Amino acid sequence: MTQTSFSTLPLRQEILSAIAALNYEAMTPVQAQSLPCLLEGRDLLAQAKTGSGKTAAFAISLLNRLDETAYHTQALILCPTRELAEQVAEEIRRLARGIPNVKTLTLCGGRPMGPQLASLKRAPHIVVGTPGRLLKHLNKETLKVDRVETLVLDEADRMLGMGFIDDIDDIDDYLPASRQTLLFSATYPDEIASLSNEFQSDPIDIRVDANESNSQITQKFYSVDRGDRLELVSRLLAAHRPESTLIFCNQKHQCEQLKDDLWGKDLHALALHGDMEQYQRDRTLIQFSNQSSSILVATDVAARGLDIGGLDLVINFDLSADPEVHIHRIGRTGRAGREGLAVSLVLPSEENRLSSIASYQGSSTPLSPTDELPAAAPFKLYPPMVTLSIGGGKRDKLRPGDLLGALTATREIEGNAIGKINVLDKLSYVAIAQTDAKVALRILQEGKIKGRKYQARRLR
Ligand code: AMP
Repeated sequence: MTQTSFSTLPLRQEILSAIAALNYEAMTPVQAQSLPCLLEGRDLLAQAKTGSGKTAAFAISLLNRLDETAYHTQALILCPTRELAEQVAEEIRRLARGIPNVKTLTLCGGRPMGPQLASLKRAPHIVVGTPGRLLKHLNKETLKVDRVETLVLDEADRMLGMGFIDDIDDIDDYLPASRQTLLFSATYPDEIASLSNEFQSDPIDIRVDANESNSQITQKFYSVDRGDRLELVSRLLAAHRPESTLIFCNQKHQCEQLKDDLWGKDLHALALHGDMEQYQRDRTLIQFSNQSSSILVATDVAARGLDIGGLDLVINFDLSADPEVHIHRIGRTGRAGREGLAVSLVLPSEENRLSSIASYQGSSTPLSPTDELPAAAPFKLYPPMVTLSIGGGKRDKLRPGDLLGALTATREIEGNAIGKINVLDKLSYVAIAQTDAKVALRILQEGKIKGRKYQARRLR
């Protein structure tokens, strides 16, 4: 594969610096194929799924044409789910870090209107959201998009599948006819072609071969009896010692059970499923993505739209009855050029599912002998980080820099021991290296942040 550096593109210096700070050394195939045309303002129809680097492709392009001194909404990004919208906004913010005062806002359903209305008092440069809520704001005239230059439809096939087409049509009525429209979709049903016809003019069409983008993933299948699955999971973890593992279960209660069972074996695991409150799901995703938990046990619905790069291992604790879901699950490992391993546990009663997966993916699904895995030696899987939760957030005008400042002020903790900082509305989370967690907690509990005392605790 030829490696193309971002510096070959006519990009603003601030963006090139942000790319360098993120350690993106070369463009991914989707980026290399799309960015030159995107920067010329062309429309794009791209077959690109999560993990391909598609978000950075459109984020770089829209940031490059942004005028940050003009306070009106210049880019609108439509996403199927809140989780995806938040991931997208986060990637945009990371890439916009060097450009002063760029305001990116997420507007999603299931969130209170009040804070969204307050944020919209000053028009954001970039808006990312789910179609229903965006339309609500457009109808109320709290959001104005008549000067949008770039429209992105992300995961368009899923938006159509979720029945958002009418909302998207209605949103289009508010947008200027002359604009750049980018459409990303993992699959190409006929509806995508009609959507493209309706919304785009002469788009460049890029398709990254699905097999090619999966080529970094090794798949293994083990036949196992129901009662032996936990044992096999711990043998797999002991054999591979992965930093991040995503385990899929078909049922919510199974996620909880497996999480508890893993804790019983001294393995730090978190569960993610639809019975959890939104704040618990946010907290879980933060803990997993900031490396303070090594194992996430999730259902498909909960994991939808979750973009966590660099998963070493995906385990299917249950096989999915739908081969397309299976391919989607295993595609979460081996991202953006990294190698990944996907292991599926197959119950005797699931062997028919295995053959539908084989015919769907067009290659065989041989069962490997379980005795190739070493017997489970007792071991503990400690995540490298710990998450501390602080009882203040954006409402208290806290910013990541304030937390960083408070933690490093006494000079007991070095900046490089501090990981991701997430400041939410009323709460903040800081990832801190295991070895420094105790001291950090003491500093936060005893000291002040911007002159005020806040509660702090360590999440388990
Ligand atoms: P996406 O396909 O947008 O969900 O991106 C998948 C992951 O790849 C994200 O975590 C990005 O931060 C990361 N990524 C995007 N572009 C690059 C690149 N050129 N090099 C390395 N990682 C990248």
